[in-house]
Formats: sequence, C-alpha cells, structure tokens
Amino acid sequence: MTDTFLVIGAGYAGSVMARELAEAGHRVLVIERRPHIAGNAYDEPDAHGVLVHRYGPHIFHTNGERIFEYLSRFTQWRPYEHRVRSVVDGVRYPFPINRDTLNQLYGLELDEASAADFFERVREPREPVSTSEDVVLNSVGRDLYEKFFLNYTRKQWGLEPSQLKAGVAARIPVRTNTDDRYFTDNFQAMPKHGYTKMFEAMLDHPNISVELGVDFTEVRNRIKARHIVYTGPIDAYFDYRYGHLPYRSLSFEHEHLTDTERFQETGTVNYPNDHAYTRITEFKHLTGQQHTGTSIVREYPQAQGEPYYPVPRAENEALFKRYQALAEQESGVTFVGRLAQYRYYNMDQVVGAALAAAKRLIGTGS
Ligand code: FAD
Ligand code: UDP
Repeated sequence: MTDTFLVIGAGYAGSVMARELAEAGHRVLVIERRPHIAGNAYDEPDAHGVLVHRYGPHIFHTNGERIFEYLSRFTQWRPYEHRVRSVVDGVRYPFPINRDTLNQLYGLELDEASAADFFERVREPREPVSTSEDVVLNSVGRDLYEKFFLNYTRKQWGLEPSQLKAGVAARIPVRTNTDDRYFTDNFQAMPKHGYTKMFEAMLDHPNISVELGVDFTEVRNRIKARHIVYTGPIDAYFDYRYGHLPYRSLSFEHEHLTDTERFQETGTVNYPNDHAYTRITEFKHLTGQQHTGTSIVREYPQAQGEPYYPVPRAENEALFKRYQALAEQESGVTFVGRLAQYRYYNMDQVVGAALAAAKRLIGTGS
C-alpha cells in the first residue's frame, strides 16, 4: 500500500482536489490522458499568438464569493461581462431575450411594465414545467420559442426541447429590462493571464506531481494508491457495464483572420436557425488582447467524440443513478466533476463540488 493519492484528470475537479489534498499534507499524483492540464478550460496562444480556448469559449461567472476567493489565490482577474447576439432572419438581436429584443423584433416601444404584459399575453402557461419546451413556452410563448430556442436546441443536443429536462433551457433568463449581459452573477471575470496559467499555479505544490498523456484505463491494473479521485466519465470507469451514458460532443473549427481587428460586435453570436454550427465566439472580446488579427471558433455539435456535455433527460439520469449506485459501493474512490457526476456543471460549480468532496475526504482521513 502506498501513501499517495491518485487523481485522474487535471481539469477543475482534479486540480482543486489535488491542491486541497496536497495542502492537507498528502502526496498526490495527477494523471491526465491529454497532453496538457486544465481540462476543457485549457487555453493557449494559437499559431498567430492570439490566446484561444481549445475546447470552446469559457467565461467565468459565479455568485459564490468563497469560490471566487479560492481561485483568486491562483490568478489575478480581468473584469469581463459576456454579451451575446442571436441572429434571426439575418438580424442580430440581444440574447437572452430582453425588452430591446421585443422592440426590435416586433417594431414596438415597450417599457418595462408593458414588456411584462407582452410576455403575459404571449406565454403558454404549462403545469407542471418539466421539460425545456415547457420552460420556454411557459415564459415567452411560441413565436419566440420557434425563433430563438427550438432549432438551436435541436442542433445542440440532437433532441427536441420536449425531450430535455427543464434545467437546460432554464439556464437562459428572460428579461423585461434592457440588460443584455449573458450572466448577472456578482463575480464575472477572466483569469488575467488565462486559465492554463491559473491551473499551473494551482498544481504548483511540492506534494503534487503531474503525468500527462497517461490514460487511467491503461494503467489501472498496475496502480496502487491510498485513495483514487476519478474525474472522467463514470460509465468508462465501470467499463460500460450498463451501457454507454450519452454525452454530447462538439467539434471546434478555429480560424484566424489576419488584419481584422474585430470580427463581430460581441463575444459570441448565436445562429439558432442557420448553419451547422450553433455559435461563433471571438476570443479577443473575452481576453482583452490587442492584436492586428483576430481568432474565432465555431462549435459544431455531434453525437460521437470527446464527451463534453452530460445530456439532461430522465432516461439518462436513470442510467446514471445505476452507475452512481456502483460508485457508492466502490471503496477508496471519490467520483467528482461534470463527467463523473453527470451534471451540467459550470466551472464554479465544479470548484464547489471538488472543495466539498476534498473536505469530506480529508475529514475521514481515508
Ligand atoms: P474536465 O474539464 O472535462 O476534466 C476532466 C479531465 O479528465 C479531462 O482533462 C480528461 O482528459 C481527463 N480524463 C478523463 N478520463 C481520463 C482517463 N481515463 N485517464 C486520464 N485522464 C482522464 N463553464 C463555465 O462556467 N463557463 C463557461 O463559459 C463554460 N463554457 C463551456 C463551453 C464548452 C464548449 C464546454 C464543453 C464546457 C463549458 N463550461 C463552461 C463547463 C466547464 O468546461 C466545466 O464545468 C469544467 O471544465 C468541468 O471540469 P471537470 O474537471 O469536471 O472536467
Ligand atoms: N439555447 C437556445 N438558444 C440559444 C442559446 C441557448 O435554445 O440561442 C438553449 C439550448 O438548449 C442550450 C441551452 O439553452 O443548450 C443552454 O445554453 P447555454 O448558452 O447556457 O449553453 P452552453 O454555453 O453550456 O453550451
């Protein structure tokens, strides 16, 4: 028996766990199958020197002061509030839907109270609100649903909104004011020197070693550890005993445009009804970088490939519960993170989950 804790995966879940265990005096080995740390938050300069997010746009936002303070130990921040436009019939509208969206789309001059009356008139009340279709129809009615949500959701998930749990569409608020920020959290900022640098600082501890390019499935029979922290897909850990848990994948098309200071007026532009991609993000908005060119990414959803999103629907959650029951029986292993817990977590939620799991683990002294 060795004294080392083994952490599988160097994303938020693995890196926060590693740091907490190391600070509690334990030796930690982190193995990561990719050639880099930071999981899906990984960023790096592209061939033209523009800092890009390899796995799609990552914008940090949280209401959790404790989580923001925790990460602030490893990075300085650049204030950034994300804004998105959505293209419908060739016109760019503020998104999430707000009063300006209504006024521009329908040629109205609504004030706040009349925007609320408008939603009250067009909404299709649903009881109970259990699917993503229910959420949107219940708040904004059919026309806005069809223009902004239906086709985006079909493209993103390969499913009808009626097949997805309410929580998916409920991520998007509806506003009667003119606030056009994508998020309204108290803390909205980007790591000043990028996510990867923040992860380097988190993993920089004398008790932590990191091995890249090592897949747990290939070494698991040889490894001895005091305790394992697993942050990969939970079905893979159990060798797909009950079948594959669906995860939605994406392919990212990165492009650099020379001699173009700005490609689009907001960080992201969504294309609900056109193209095979869902959205285009221009990184310089997010990072504040100055450069004579600009770099963008298009996201193409797909069924196969790297697992990026758990797919929140009742039958998948039932299958996850079966794997979770196996996980509870598995002594000496902690399952944490977006893939291991099969939850549509944002970055801050993963940090919160990892801090809680570390506290439990250190508390038990296992
Ligand atoms: P991951 O980052 O997936 O890390 C898990 C790591 O484990 C990976 O590096 C993987 O290679 C490794 N691994 C898996 N299996 C093995 C194995 N067998 N052996 C060794 N290593 C293994 N969140 C936000 O808050 N704001 C955003 O704007 C935002 N945008 C996003 C955009 C996209 C396109 C995506 C996909 C996600 C976005 N997120 C965003 C969510 C965010 O990426 C996740 O919440 C967070 O990165 C999850 O961290 P994690 O450690 O659980 O998982
Ligand atoms: N959504 C939509 N139209 C949009 C943006 C989002 O219908 O223009 C729906 C879609 O189902 C999407 C969900 O809302 O998957 C959550 O969107 P979010 O931008 O939070 O997704 P993420 O950034 O996690 O991919």
